[in-house]
Amino acid sequence: MTKPPKIVTDIVKSVSEKLGREAILRKVNNREEYFILDLAFSYFQKADRNRRNDYRSGYLYFKLKNTNHLLFVLAHSPIMTSFFKKNFDYEVFKNIIINTELYRDENSLRFKNKGKQERIKAIDIKEFLNKLDEIEKVGFAKSVFAKDTKGITGTGNIFALSIARGFKGKDINEIIEKSWDLFLWLYPSKPVFQRNASLNRSLNKIENECEISKIKNLPKNILETSCSGQIEGAHIKPHKDGGTDKLDNGLWLCKAHHRLTEGKLEGHRGINTFKVNFKNKRDKRRVRGTRPTI
Ligand SMILES: [Zn+2]
Repeated sequence: MTKPPKIVTDIVKSVSEKLGREAILRKVNNREEYFILDLAFSYFQKADRNRRNDYRSGYLYFKLKNTNHLLFVLAHSPIMTSFFKKNFDYEVFKNIIINTELYRDENSLRFKNKGKQERIKAIDIKEFLNKLDEIEKVGFAKSVFAKDTKGITGTGNIFALSIARGFKGKDINEIIEKSWDLFLWLYPSKPVFQRNASLNRSLNKIENECEISKIKNLPKNILETSCSGQIEGAHIKPHKDGGTDKLDNGLWLCKAHHRLTEGKLEGHRGINTFKVNFKNKRDKRRVRGTRPTI
């Protein structure tokens, strides 16, 4: 096998970083097209009645007319399609399309609707989203991942969303990050723990050791707990509360101290500054006393 182009190995690297283990690469026979997958997909597919184990679901890269293309594809994979359909969230799906728009010059989705292959294509994203909204009126997932006459979801079906077209190698990490939910929807259930690759990247200029001793206002029980477990990137303001993955919202903590302080920190940091406090209960009472309760 000829060596895959660097851009492909960079995509594999980026997906591996998100997965927390090595992603695998599958070249499409006789074509310069590459699927980037999780090996776990092969186990899901083996449970398939069709016994197909070519697991063509995941990211697909190819180069056409000197232009880089990255697609998210589900092809002839009943089991994977049923997982994807179950996890699918239309609003999140739309947000992925909006958040990745800057990496492509055209929007495109191929899918099967009422048994027929269709393609929505539009340069203008509003026009593209309007067409998707039309399908959503009757239920997007229900229409696009409909069962066939034999009651099987996804046979002979291709779902292919263009994520990026005409992008550069330097954009890969951002593209994978912003489209990652699609990949997670390929699992039987959404993984609870997502490795936070982008926060870890933001912290790469900070020495990788537990920073617990720099936090102000720590309660006695935490001060008396010694470090244990691996060093992890931790958010000051949690991701679920709108905290970013940028350096100013991150610190390194060991697993033990990460657990004890999760959601209880406030402040910010830079490369040479660190102003992070533990929010103790007394502070909360003070805040409650000065502001009307909503
Ligand atoms: Zn620690």
